[in-house]
Amino acid sequence: MNKIPNKGQDQQHILAQLKAFKGKDLPWQAGKIFAYIYQTTPEAKAVAEAAYLSFLPENGLDPTAFPSLLHLEQQIIGQLAPLLGGNEDVKGNCTSGGTESVILAVKAARDYARAKYPDQKEFEILVPSTAHPCFYKAAHYLNIGIQSIDVDPQTQRLKVADMRAAISKKTILLVGSAPSYAHGVMDPIAELSDLALEKDLLLHVDACVGGMYLPFLRQLGHEVPPFGFELPGVTSISCDLHKFGYVPKGCSTILYRNKELRQHQIFSCSQWPGYTVINPTVLSSKTGAPMAAAWAMFQYMGLEGYQNAVADCQAARDAVIAALEQLPSLQLIGQPDMSLLAFASKDEDLSIFDLADQLNEKGWYVQVQLASPHSPAAIHLSISHFNCPHIPSFVADLQETVAELMSNPVEENELLAALDHSMLALLMEDFDPAMLGQFQELMGLESAEGGLPADMGAVNQLLNVLSAKQREDVLLAFMNELI
Ligand SMILES: *Cc1c(COP(=O)(O)O)cnc(C)c1O
Repeated sequence: MNKIPNKGQDQQHILAQLKAFKGKDLPWQAGKIFAYIYQTTPEAKAVAEAAYLSFLPENGLDPTAFPSLLHLEQQIIGQLAPLLGGNEDVKGNCTSGGTESVILAVKAARDYARAKYPDQKEFEILVPSTAHPCFYKAAHYLNIGIQSIDVDPQTQRLKVADMRAAISKKTILLVGSAPSYAHGVMDPIAELSDLALEKDLLLHVDACVGGMYLPFLRQLGHEVPPFGFELPGVTSISCDLHKFGYVPKGCSTILYRNKELRQHQIFSCSQWPGYTVINPTVLSSKTGAPMAAAWAMFQYMGLEGYQNAVADCQAARDAVIAALEQLPSLQLIGQPDMSLLAFASKDEDLSIFDLADQLNEKGWYVQVQLASPHSPAAIHLSISHFNCPHIPSFVADLQETVAELMSNPVEENELLAALDHSMLALLMEDFDPAMLGQFQELMGLESAEGGLPADMGAVNQLLNVLSAKQREDVLLAFMNELI
Protein backbone atom coordinates (compact mmCIF):
# COMPACT_ATOMS: atom_id res chain seq x y z
CA MET A 1 0.00 0.00 0.00
CA ASN A 2 1.22 3.46 -0.91
CA LYS A 3 1.95 5.60 2.16
CA ILE A 4 4.10 8.44 3.49
CA PRO A 5 7.46 6.94 4.60
CA ASN A 6 8.00 6.55 8.35
CA LYS A 7 11.40 8.17 8.17
CA GLY A 8 12.04 11.25 6.09
CA GLN A 9 14.28 10.91 3.04
CA ASP A 10 17.07 13.21 1.90
CA GLN A 11 16.57 15.91 -0.69
CA GLN A 12 18.76 14.37 -3.37
CA HIS A 13 16.85 11.11 -3.29
CA ILE A 14 13.51 12.91 -3.31
CA LEU A 15 14.41 15.12 -6.27
CA ALA A 16 15.77 12.14 -8.19
CA GLN A 17 12.45 10.36 -7.71
CA LEU A 18 10.51 13.39 -8.84
CA LYS A 19 12.60 13.55 -11.97
CA ALA A 20 12.04 9.84 -12.60
CA PHE A 21 8.25 10.36 -12.39
CA LYS A 22 8.52 12.47 -15.54
CA GLY A 23 9.95 9.56 -17.52
CA LYS A 24 6.84 9.05 -19.66
CA ASP A 25 5.79 12.69 -19.93
CA LEU A 26 5.78 14.47 -23.26
CA PRO A 27 9.39 15.52 -23.88
CA TRP A 28 8.44 19.16 -24.29
CA GLN A 29 12.00 20.45 -23.86
CA ALA A 30 12.73 19.49 -27.45
CA GLY A 31 10.29 22.18 -28.63
CA LYS A 32 8.35 19.67 -30.75
CA ILE A 33 5.10 19.89 -28.83
CA PHE A 34 2.32 22.11 -30.22
CA ALA A 35 0.08 22.34 -27.15
CA TYR A 36 0.19 22.70 -23.37
CA ILE A 37 3.62 24.33 -23.19
CA TYR A 38 4.43 27.91 -24.13
CA GLN A 39 8.12 28.79 -24.01
CA THR A 40 10.45 31.34 -25.44
CA THR A 41 14.21 31.34 -24.70
CA PRO A 42 15.92 29.42 -21.86
CA GLU A 43 17.16 32.79 -20.54
CA ALA A 44 13.61 34.10 -20.23
CA LYS A 45 12.56 30.87 -18.52
CA ALA A 46 15.35 31.31 -15.98
CA VAL A 47 14.27 34.89 -15.21
CA ALA A 48 10.64 33.87 -14.76
CA GLU A 49 11.52 30.93 -12.54
CA ALA A 50 13.88 32.91 -10.31
CA ALA A 51 11.21 35.60 -9.88
CA TYR A 52 8.60 32.90 -9.24
CA LEU A 53 10.61 31.27 -6.46
CA SER A 54 11.40 34.63 -4.88
CA PHE A 55 7.69 35.15 -4.09
CA LEU A 56 6.58 31.62 -3.24
CA PRO A 57 5.68 31.98 0.48
CA GLU A 58 4.02 35.42 0.30
CA ASN A 59 0.26 35.10 0.61
CA GLY A 60 -2.19 37.03 -1.57
CA LEU A 61 -4.95 36.24 0.92
CA ASP A 62 -4.51 39.69 2.39
CA PRO A 63 -2.83 42.29 0.20
CA THR A 64 -2.63 44.74 3.13
CA ALA A 65 -0.25 42.31 4.85
CA PHE A 66 1.89 42.04 1.68
CA PRO A 67 1.76 45.40 -0.11
CA SER A 68 4.35 44.02 -2.51
CA LEU A 69 1.65 41.75 -3.97
CA LEU A 70 -0.81 44.61 -4.29
CA HIS A 71 1.88 46.60 -6.07
CA LEU A 72 2.68 43.71 -8.45
CA GLU A 73 -0.98 43.22 -9.32
CA GLN A 74 -1.53 46.94 -9.94
CA GLN A 75 1.59 47.09 -12.08
CA ILE A 76 0.63 44.05 -14.18
CA ILE A 77 -2.96 45.20 -14.77
CA GLY A 78 -1.76 48.76 -15.39
CA GLN A 79 0.84 47.69 -17.96
CA LEU A 80 -1.56 45.31 -19.68
CA ALA A 81 -4.59 47.63 -19.93
CA PRO A 82 -3.21 49.94 -22.67
CA LEU A 83 -2.26 46.91 -24.78
CA LEU A 84 -5.92 45.91 -24.66
CA GLY A 85 -7.23 49.35 -25.56
CA GLY A 86 -7.94 50.36 -21.95
CA ASN A 87 -7.40 53.62 -20.07
CA GLU A 88 -6.80 54.35 -16.37
CA ASP A 89 -10.43 53.47 -15.53
CA VAL A 90 -9.69 49.80 -16.23
CA LYS A 91 -9.68 47.60 -13.11
CA GLY A 92 -8.64 44.00 -12.93
CA ASN A 93 -7.00 41.14 -11.12
CA CYS A 94 -4.49 38.39 -11.63
CA THR A 95 -5.97 34.89 -11.45
CA SER A 96 -4.75 31.31 -11.55
CA GLY A 97 -5.70 30.79 -15.20
CA GLY A 98 -8.07 31.57 -18.03
CA THR A 99 -10.77 29.40 -16.55
CA GLU A 100 -10.75 31.36 -13.30
CA SER A 101 -10.75 34.66 -15.21
CA VAL A 102 -13.81 33.57 -17.18
CA ILE A 103 -15.64 32.22 -14.11
CA LEU A 104 -15.10 35.61 -12.48
CA ALA A 105 -16.30 37.55 -15.55
CA VAL A 106 -19.48 35.45 -15.65
CA LYS A 107 -19.98 35.83 -11.88
CA ALA A 108 -19.56 39.60 -12.17
CA ALA A 109 -22.10 39.68 -15.02
CA ARG A 110 -24.59 37.64 -13.01
CA ASP A 111 -24.25 39.79 -9.89
CA TYR A 112 -24.37 42.98 -11.97
CA ALA A 113 -27.68 41.76 -13.41
CA ARG A 114 -28.95 40.83 -9.94
CA ALA A 115 -28.17 44.33 -8.70
CA LYS A 116 -29.59 46.11 -11.74
CA TYR A 117 -32.71 43.95 -12.22
CA PRO A 118 -33.67 42.66 -8.75
CA ASP A 119 -36.71 40.84 -10.15
CA GLN A 120 -34.79 38.87 -12.73
CA LYS A 121 -34.69 35.19 -11.76
CA GLU A 122 -33.15 33.53 -14.81
CA PHE A 123 -29.76 34.34 -16.24
CA GLU A 124 -28.23 33.17 -19.47
CA ILE A 125 -25.01 33.86 -21.35
CA LEU A 126 -24.66 33.58 -25.14
CA VAL A 127 -21.40 32.15 -26.47
CA PRO A 128 -20.12 31.20 -29.93
CA SER A 129 -20.08 27.42 -30.54
CA THR A 130 -16.28 27.70 -30.67
CA ALA A 131 -16.06 29.31 -27.19
CA HIS A 132 -13.77 27.63 -24.68
CA PRO A 133 -15.41 25.06 -22.36
CA CYS A 134 -14.60 27.26 -19.35
CA PHE A 135 -17.79 29.21 -20.16
CA TYR A 136 -19.81 26.00 -19.71
CA LYS A 137 -17.91 25.36 -16.51
CA ALA A 138 -18.71 28.90 -15.31
CA ALA A 139 -22.41 28.46 -16.14
CA HIS A 140 -22.37 25.07 -14.40
CA TYR A 141 -20.65 26.34 -11.25
CA LEU A 142 -22.70 29.55 -11.09
CA ASN A 143 -25.98 27.80 -11.85
CA ILE A 144 -26.98 29.94 -14.82
CA GLY A 145 -27.95 29.10 -18.41
CA ILE A 146 -25.69 29.05 -21.44
CA GLN A 147 -26.65 28.98 -25.10
CA SER A 148 -24.25 28.09 -27.89
CA ILE A 149 -24.62 30.19 -31.04
CA ASP A 150 -23.53 28.80 -34.40
CA VAL A 151 -20.40 29.86 -36.17
CA ASP A 152 -20.14 29.97 -39.94
CA PRO A 153 -18.86 26.49 -40.91
CA GLN A 154 -16.54 28.03 -43.52
CA THR A 155 -14.92 30.81 -41.51
CA GLN A 156 -15.59 29.46 -37.98
CA ARG A 157 -16.58 33.01 -37.02
CA LEU A 158 -19.62 33.69 -34.87
CA LYS A 159 -22.80 34.52 -36.79
CA VAL A 160 -23.67 37.75 -35.00
CA ALA A 161 -27.19 37.82 -36.50
CA ASP A 162 -27.85 34.46 -34.83
CA MET A 163 -26.62 35.81 -31.50
CA ARG A 164 -28.87 38.83 -31.93
CA ALA A 165 -31.84 36.54 -32.55
CA ALA A 166 -31.05 34.52 -29.41
CA ILE A 167 -31.10 37.51 -27.04
CA SER A 168 -33.94 37.26 -24.53
CA LYS A 169 -34.97 38.71 -21.15
CA LYS A 170 -32.67 36.14 -19.55
CA THR A 171 -29.55 37.28 -21.41
CA ILE A 172 -26.94 38.90 -19.17
CA LEU A 173 -23.74 38.57 -21.19
CA LEU A 174 -22.54 38.19 -24.78
CA VAL A 175 -19.20 36.50 -25.47
CA GLY A 176 -16.74 36.57 -28.34
CA SER A 177 -13.26 35.05 -28.66
CA ALA A 178 -10.13 36.88 -29.79
CA PRO A 179 -9.32 34.35 -31.07
CA SER A 180 -10.89 30.93 -30.38
CA TYR A 181 -8.43 28.33 -29.17
CA ALA A 182 -9.58 25.57 -31.53
CA HIS A 183 -9.00 27.37 -34.84
CA GLY A 184 -7.25 30.61 -33.92
CA VAL A 185 -10.08 32.58 -35.54
CA MET A 186 -11.33 35.90 -34.12
CA ASP A 187 -15.04 36.51 -33.78
CA PRO A 188 -16.42 39.80 -35.18
CA ILE A 189 -15.89 41.68 -31.92
CA ALA A 190 -16.68 45.14 -33.36
CA GLU A 191 -20.10 43.93 -34.48
CA LEU A 192 -20.64 42.32 -31.09
CA SER A 193 -19.73 45.61 -29.43
CA ASP A 194 -22.42 47.42 -31.44
CA LEU A 195 -24.94 44.73 -30.56
CA ALA A 196 -24.09 44.91 -26.84
CA LEU A 197 -24.48 48.70 -26.82
CA GLU A 198 -27.75 48.54 -28.72
CA LYS A 199 -29.21 45.94 -26.35
CA ASP A 200 -27.61 47.40 -23.21
CA LEU A 201 -25.82 44.12 -22.47
CA LEU A 202 -22.38 43.30 -21.13
CA LEU A 203 -19.82 41.89 -23.57
CA HIS A 204 -16.90 39.70 -22.54
CA VAL A 205 -13.98 39.22 -24.93
CA ASP A 206 -12.08 36.02 -24.33
CA ALA A 207 -8.54 37.04 -25.25
CA CYS A 208 -7.03 34.30 -23.08
CA VAL A 209 -4.79 33.11 -25.88
CA GLY A 210 -4.70 36.24 -28.06
CA GLY A 211 -4.30 39.01 -25.51
CA MET A 212 -0.52 38.73 -25.35
CA TYR A 213 -0.12 38.19 -29.11
CA LEU A 214 -2.55 40.26 -31.18
CA PRO A 215 -1.48 43.67 -29.76
CA PHE A 216 2.15 42.93 -30.70
CA LEU A 217 1.12 41.66 -34.11
CA ARG A 218 -0.59 45.01 -34.61
CA GLN A 219 2.51 46.89 -33.41
CA LEU A 220 4.43 44.98 -36.08
CA GLY A 221 2.18 46.56 -38.69
CA HIS A 222 -0.22 43.68 -39.33
CA GLU A 223 -3.92 44.34 -39.80
CA VAL A 224 -5.60 43.21 -36.57
CA PRO A 225 -9.29 43.97 -36.13
CA PRO A 226 -10.14 45.88 -32.93
CA PHE A 227 -11.13 43.59 -30.06
CA GLY A 228 -10.32 45.48 -26.84
CA PHE A 229 -11.68 48.30 -24.72
CA GLU A 230 -11.25 50.68 -27.69
CA LEU A 231 -14.62 49.23 -28.70
CA PRO A 232 -17.15 50.96 -26.44
CA GLY A 233 -19.32 47.85 -25.97
CA VAL A 234 -16.55 45.66 -24.54
CA THR A 235 -17.00 45.46 -20.77
CA SER A 236 -14.52 42.75 -19.74
CA ILE A 237 -11.52 40.91 -21.17
CA SER A 238 -9.73 37.74 -20.05
CA CYS A 239 -6.05 37.53 -21.00
CA ASP A 240 -3.76 34.68 -19.99
CA LEU A 241 -0.17 35.47 -19.16
CA HIS A 242 0.80 31.79 -18.94
CA LYS A 243 0.33 31.32 -22.67
CA PHE A 244 1.87 33.92 -24.99
CA GLY A 245 3.03 36.02 -22.02
CA TYR A 246 5.51 33.16 -21.43
CA VAL A 247 4.90 33.28 -17.68
CA PRO A 248 4.95 29.95 -15.79
CA LYS A 249 1.51 28.41 -15.35
CA GLY A 250 -0.88 29.82 -12.78
CA CYS A 251 -1.19 33.29 -14.28
CA SER A 252 -4.05 34.95 -16.12
CA THR A 253 -5.83 38.28 -15.83
CA ILE A 254 -9.40 39.56 -15.85
CA LEU A 255 -9.94 43.21 -16.75
CA TYR A 256 -13.08 45.34 -16.58
CA ARG A 257 -13.83 48.63 -18.28
CA ASN A 258 -14.31 50.29 -14.87
CA LYS A 259 -14.62 49.62 -11.16
CA GLU A 260 -18.44 49.78 -11.22
CA LEU A 261 -18.36 46.53 -13.19
CA ARG A 262 -15.48 44.95 -11.28
CA GLN A 263 -17.11 45.39 -7.86
CA HIS A 264 -19.51 42.53 -8.70
CA GLN A 265 -16.58 40.15 -8.91
CA ILE A 266 -15.51 40.61 -5.28
CA PHE A 267 -16.68 38.31 -2.50
CA SER A 268 -16.58 39.27 1.14
CA CYS A 269 -17.66 37.34 4.21
CA SER A 270 -17.46 38.04 7.89
CA GLN A 271 -19.90 35.37 9.09
CA TRP A 272 -17.41 33.31 11.04
CA PRO A 273 -15.16 33.94 14.03
CA GLY A 274 -11.92 33.97 12.01
CA TYR A 275 -10.35 36.67 9.84
CA THR A 276 -12.67 38.63 7.56
CA VAL A 277 -12.53 37.30 4.03
CA ILE A 278 -12.44 39.80 1.16
CA ASN A 279 -11.55 37.86 -1.99
CA PRO A 280 -11.52 39.50 -5.40
CA THR A 281 -10.75 36.12 -7.03
CA VAL A 282 -11.78 32.49 -6.54
CA LEU A 283 -8.66 31.49 -4.63
CA SER A 284 -8.20 32.74 -1.10
CA SER A 285 -4.72 31.78 0.14
CA LYS A 286 -2.51 32.08 -2.90
CA THR A 287 1.17 32.43 -3.60
CA GLY A 288 2.58 35.66 -5.03
CA ALA A 289 4.86 33.59 -7.29
CA PRO A 290 2.94 33.82 -10.61
CA MET A 291 2.53 37.59 -10.29
CA ALA A 292 6.22 38.07 -9.52
CA ALA A 293 7.04 35.95 -12.57
CA ALA A 294 4.58 37.90 -14.76
CA TRP A 295 5.96 41.24 -13.71
CA ALA A 296 9.50 39.99 -14.24
CA MET A 297 8.63 38.72 -17.73
CA PHE A 298 7.08 42.04 -18.74
CA GLN A 299 10.28 43.82 -17.73
CA TYR A 300 12.61 41.19 -19.22
CA MET A 301 10.85 40.85 -22.58
CA GLY A 302 9.81 44.46 -23.03
CA LEU A 303 7.48 45.33 -25.90
CA GLU A 304 10.33 44.59 -28.26
CA GLY A 305 10.91 41.08 -26.93
CA TYR A 306 7.24 40.21 -27.28
CA GLN A 307 7.13 41.73 -30.77
CA ASN A 308 10.11 39.63 -31.85
CA ALA A 309 8.55 36.46 -30.45
CA VAL A 310 5.28 37.22 -32.26
CA ALA A 311 7.12 37.95 -35.52
CA ASP A 312 8.82 34.53 -35.34
CA CYS A 313 5.60 32.71 -34.46
CA GLN A 314 3.74 34.43 -37.28
CA ALA A 315 6.42 33.42 -39.78
CA ALA A 316 6.26 29.84 -38.49
CA ARG A 317 2.48 29.84 -38.87
CA ASP A 318 2.79 31.18 -42.44
CA ALA A 319 5.20 28.35 -43.28
CA VAL A 320 2.78 25.72 -41.95
CA ILE A 321 -0.13 27.28 -43.84
CA ALA A 322 1.91 27.37 -47.05
CA ALA A 323 2.75 23.68 -46.61
CA LEU A 324 -0.92 22.82 -46.01
CA GLU A 325 -1.87 24.59 -49.23
CA GLN A 326 0.47 22.22 -51.09
CA LEU A 327 -1.16 19.13 -49.58
CA PRO A 328 -4.43 18.43 -51.42
CA SER A 329 -5.60 15.91 -48.82
CA LEU A 330 -5.50 18.46 -46.00
CA GLN A 331 -7.59 21.55 -45.42
CA LEU A 332 -6.79 24.53 -43.20
CA ILE A 333 -9.89 25.40 -41.17
CA GLY A 334 -10.93 29.04 -41.54
CA GLN A 335 -8.33 31.80 -41.73
CA PRO A 336 -6.43 31.79 -38.43
CA ASP A 337 -5.64 35.24 -37.01
CA MET A 338 -2.54 34.18 -35.08
CA SER A 339 -0.20 31.23 -34.59
CA LEU A 340 -2.95 28.82 -33.58
CA LEU A 341 -4.46 26.80 -36.37
CA ALA A 342 -6.28 23.60 -37.18
CA PHE A 343 -6.49 21.42 -40.25
CA ALA A 344 -8.80 18.63 -41.31
CA SER A 345 -8.61 15.78 -43.82
CA LYS A 346 -10.26 16.33 -47.20
CA ASP A 347 -9.64 12.77 -48.35
CA GLU A 348 -11.53 9.78 -46.99
CA ASP A 349 -8.40 7.65 -47.33
CA LEU A 350 -6.65 9.86 -44.82
CA SER A 351 -7.75 9.58 -41.21
CA ILE A 352 -6.82 12.75 -39.37
CA PHE A 353 -6.51 10.69 -36.19
CA ASP A 354 -4.00 8.32 -37.78
CA LEU A 355 -2.06 11.30 -39.05
CA ALA A 356 -1.93 12.70 -35.51
CA ASP A 357 -0.79 9.32 -34.15
CA GLN A 358 1.93 8.99 -36.79
CA LEU A 359 3.22 12.51 -36.23
CA ASN A 360 3.30 11.88 -32.51
CA GLU A 361 5.17 8.60 -33.16
CA LYS A 362 7.80 10.67 -34.94
CA GLY A 363 8.42 12.74 -31.83
CA TRP A 364 5.93 15.58 -32.34
CA TYR A 365 2.93 16.30 -30.25
CA VAL A 366 -0.13 17.57 -32.08
CA GLN A 367 -3.54 17.89 -30.46
CA VAL A 368 -6.60 16.11 -31.80
CA GLN A 369 -9.96 17.89 -32.06
CA LEU A 370 -13.09 15.77 -32.39
CA ALA A 371 -15.77 16.67 -34.90
CA SER A 372 -18.59 18.95 -33.74
CA PRO A 373 -21.71 20.10 -35.59
CA HIS A 374 -19.98 23.07 -37.28
CA SER A 375 -16.35 22.02 -37.23
CA PRO A 376 -14.70 18.90 -38.67
CA ALA A 377 -12.35 16.60 -36.74
CA ALA A 378 -8.93 18.20 -36.90
CA ILE A 379 -5.35 18.46 -35.81
CA HIS A 380 -4.63 21.57 -33.77
CA LEU A 381 -1.29 23.38 -33.50
CA SER A 382 -0.47 26.10 -30.99
CA ILE A 383 2.84 27.47 -32.23
CA SER A 384 4.76 29.26 -29.50
CA HIS A 385 8.23 30.77 -29.70
CA PHE A 386 10.26 27.68 -28.86
CA ASN A 387 8.57 25.73 -31.67
CA CYS A 388 9.78 28.12 -34.37
CA PRO A 389 13.21 26.60 -35.12
CA HIS A 390 11.55 23.17 -35.58
CA ILE A 391 8.98 24.22 -38.16
CA PRO A 392 10.98 23.19 -41.26
CA SER A 393 11.46 19.66 -39.93
CA PHE A 394 7.83 19.52 -38.84
CA VAL A 395 6.69 20.48 -42.32
CA ALA A 396 8.95 17.80 -43.81
CA ASP A 397 7.54 15.15 -41.46
CA LEU A 398 4.00 16.30 -42.18
CA GLN A 399 4.53 15.93 -45.93
CA GLU A 400 6.23 12.56 -45.53
CA THR A 401 3.60 11.19 -43.14
CA VAL A 402 0.69 12.24 -45.33
CA ALA A 403 2.37 10.53 -48.30
CA GLU A 404 2.93 7.34 -46.28
CA LEU A 405 -0.65 7.22 -45.05
CA MET A 406 -2.09 7.92 -48.50
CA SER A 407 -0.09 5.14 -50.13
CA ASN A 408 -0.70 2.69 -47.34
CA PRO A 409 -4.01 3.38 -45.60
CA VAL A 410 -3.97 2.03 -42.06
CA GLU A 411 -6.80 -0.41 -41.40
CA GLU A 412 -9.70 0.91 -39.46
CA ASN A 413 -10.21 -0.44 -36.00
CA GLU A 414 -12.13 -3.70 -36.44
CA LEU A 415 -14.90 -2.92 -34.05
CA LEU A 416 -15.46 0.49 -35.53
CA ALA A 417 -15.54 -1.01 -38.99
CA ALA A 418 -18.10 -3.57 -37.89
CA LEU A 419 -20.36 -1.22 -36.02
CA ASP A 420 -22.13 1.44 -37.92
CA HIS A 421 -22.39 4.78 -36.24
CA SER A 422 -26.06 4.66 -35.35
CA MET A 423 -25.49 1.31 -33.63
CA LEU A 424 -22.70 2.79 -31.59
CA ALA A 425 -24.88 5.69 -30.61
CA LEU A 426 -27.58 3.23 -29.53
CA LEU A 427 -25.01 1.34 -27.49
CA MET A 428 -24.08 4.57 -25.79
CA GLU A 429 -27.60 5.72 -25.03
CA ASP A 430 -27.62 4.05 -21.64
CA PHE A 431 -23.99 4.53 -20.88
CA ASP A 432 -23.02 3.36 -17.44
CA PRO A 433 -19.58 4.01 -15.97
CA ALA A 434 -19.32 0.26 -15.32
CA MET A 435 -19.26 -0.17 -19.12
CA LEU A 436 -16.00 1.67 -19.45
CA GLY A 437 -13.83 -1.40 -18.87
CA GLN A 438 -15.89 -3.51 -21.25
CA PHE A 439 -15.72 -0.77 -23.74
CA GLN A 440 -11.96 -0.61 -23.69
CA GLU A 441 -11.77 -4.39 -23.99
CA LEU A 442 -14.17 -4.38 -26.91
CA MET A 443 -12.07 -1.77 -28.64
CA GLY A 444 -8.97 -3.86 -28.13
CA LEU A 445 -7.42 -1.01 -26.22
CA GLU A 446 -4.66 -2.42 -24.12
CA SER A 447 -4.81 -0.47 -20.95
CA ALA A 448 -1.18 0.45 -20.64
CA GLU A 449 0.59 1.32 -17.42
CA GLY A 450 -1.00 4.18 -15.51
CA GLY A 451 -4.46 3.40 -16.94
CA LEU A 452 -3.83 5.30 -20.15
CA PRO A 453 -4.96 3.74 -23.40
CA ALA A 454 -2.19 2.74 -25.79
CA ASP A 455 -3.90 3.36 -29.12
CA MET A 456 -5.18 6.94 -29.06
CA GLY A 457 -6.16 6.81 -32.73
CA ALA A 458 -8.77 4.15 -32.01
CA VAL A 459 -10.03 5.98 -28.94
CA ASN A 460 -10.41 9.17 -30.93
CA GLN A 461 -12.20 7.41 -33.77
CA LEU A 462 -14.64 6.01 -31.26
CA LEU A 463 -15.18 9.30 -29.42
CA ASN A 464 -15.62 11.07 -32.71
CA VAL A 465 -18.83 9.20 -33.55
CA LEU A 466 -20.41 9.83 -30.15
CA SER A 467 -22.58 12.80 -29.27
CA ALA A 468 -21.17 15.57 -27.09
CA LYS A 469 -23.14 14.26 -24.10
CA GLN A 470 -21.90 10.71 -24.65
CA ARG A 471 -18.31 11.89 -24.92
CA GLU A 472 -18.73 13.79 -21.68
CA ASP A 473 -20.11 10.70 -19.90
CA VAL A 474 -17.35 8.41 -21.16
CA LEU A 475 -14.56 10.83 -20.35
CA LEU A 476 -15.95 11.67 -16.92
CA ALA A 477 -16.08 7.96 -16.06
CA PHE A 478 -12.56 7.55 -17.41
CA MET A 479 -11.21 10.42 -15.29
CA ASN A 480 -12.99 9.10 -12.21
CA GLU A 481 -11.07 5.84 -12.64
CA LEU A 482 -7.78 7.48 -13.53
CA ILE A 483 -7.18 9.64 -10.45
C1 LIG B 1 -6.59 28.55 -22.69
C2 LIG B 1 -7.87 29.23 -22.94
C3 LIG B 1 -8.84 29.36 -21.94
C4 LIG B 1 -8.74 28.69 -20.59
O1 LIG B 1 -7.57 28.96 -19.94
P1 LIG B 1 -6.89 28.01 -18.85
O2 LIG B 1 -5.72 28.82 -18.48
O3 LIG B 1 -6.55 26.71 -19.51
O4 LIG B 1 -7.86 27.85 -17.73
C5 LIG B 1 -9.98 30.08 -22.25
N1 LIG B 1 -10.17 30.60 -23.47
C6 LIG B 1 -9.26 30.48 -24.46
C7 LIG B 1 -9.54 31.10 -25.79
C8 LIG B 1 -8.08 29.79 -24.23
O5 LIG B 1 -7.19 29.65 -25.21
